[in-house]
Amino acid sequence: MSALISGNSMKDNDKITSDWAFETQAIRAGSIRSGEREHSEAIYLTSSFAYDSAAQAQAVFAGDEEGNVYSRYTNPSIKMFEDRMAALEGGEMACASSSGMAAILGMCMGLLQARDHVICSRSVFGTTFTIFAKYLDKFGVKTTFVDFTDYQQWRNAMRPETKLLFLETPSNPRGEVVDLELMASIAHENDAYLMVDNCFCTPALQQPLKLGADIVVHSATKYIDGQGRCMGGVAVGKAELIEEMHLWQRAAGACLSPFNAWNFYKGLETLSLRMEAHCRNTLALAQWLNEHPAVEVVHYSGLPSHLGHELARRQQKGFGGVLAFEVRGGRQQAWTVLDNVQIMSRTANLGDTRTTITHPATTTHCRLSDEDKARSGITENLVRIAVGLENIEDLKRDLERGLSQL
Ligand SMILES: *Cc1c(COP(=O)(O)O)cnc(C)c1O
Repeated sequence: MSALISGNSMKDNDKITSDWAFETQAIRAGSIRSGEREHSEAIYLTSSFAYDSAAQAQAVFAGDEEGNVYSRYTNPSIKMFEDRMAALEGGEMACASSSGMAAILGMCMGLLQARDHVICSRSVFGTTFTIFAKYLDKFGVKTTFVDFTDYQQWRNAMRPETKLLFLETPSNPRGEVVDLELMASIAHENDAYLMVDNCFCTPALQQPLKLGADIVVHSATKYIDGQGRCMGGVAVGKAELIEEMHLWQRAAGACLSPFNAWNFYKGLETLSLRMEAHCRNTLALAQWLNEHPAVEVVHYSGLPSHLGHELARRQQKGFGGVLAFEVRGGRQQAWTVLDNVQIMSRTANLGDTRTTITHPATTTHCRLSDEDKARSGITENLVRIAVGLENIEDLKRDLERGLSQL
């Protein structure tokens, strides 16, 4: 990278970064400054890179000289995002991808082969379930799905060929949590890897690698972007594992756009502040709903009545920005709440400054069988809210428009 001057040289940067607190890393880790001396990080919107001579091109292509070749392989914007994420999750290396699903699939393609076995939580993002149940299955990787807070089910599902345990904590939409240290020990006793989807907490609230997980994956589309603009994903962990994903992705082409990478590393600069505010608003809304006569029960680990409360307190720095609640009644009553909001957006996305409201049974979880819905607690009277950063009193008034009609 002869034309680039790093903020400090990358090697120095690595050394300094490890002493920095989270907020400092989120703003400064991984920065690369070009010869133009820009203060805010540039966007490197380029597909390929040019060389001073034929000999230099040969050296870079052969890997004898450090440098970029083609943005499907590496790109400075993507590298800044990856290095910043690696610092924030406390991992050796990160690999960014075109979406959260591309990160999950890419990690699986890098690590797994035919006849390997996976154990996966039943309470994962719907498309994650599809990847394991349908597509990896098609290529001879079999998956057993378990109720994710039942540790005995994880142990019982273990086979000699089990290579990977996959889970998401807290779960969507009811906010159940699982003990990551215990799950890491269950995985490692059996020579398997533990991969954790950390999308709901982000490293600002939970750092699974520090609790023993081997790989963390993210949909950067959510809180990392933070404003609902760009699709992207990233995996973080030990270099030898992440390198496998990177090699696969270079070939498969699920690379992140440098423009999206730029949005993400700028988004990371405000991540802790935003997560604090999401947590504060969500707790206030959960407490208010918990007292509301039209509400039967609120599912949010920030409430002492929630089963996962103590564990979440221990394992997370905050309870997160997603809550669910059951209204008195059924689908009609839940829909009345959704149909009367004027501020909240009726959409299934999350991790945005804007609050979103959704009816899981008929949207995000509509493809589950009635039996699976019942098992996962996706009842007809359940409403999920991903709480944004609007004023909390406005949000309460917005819900009251529908709740007062029940
Ligand atoms: C959105 C999401 C994904 C998938 O990410 P995409 O960026 O949409 O591909 C995976 N896991 C969780 C928990 C998510 O919320």
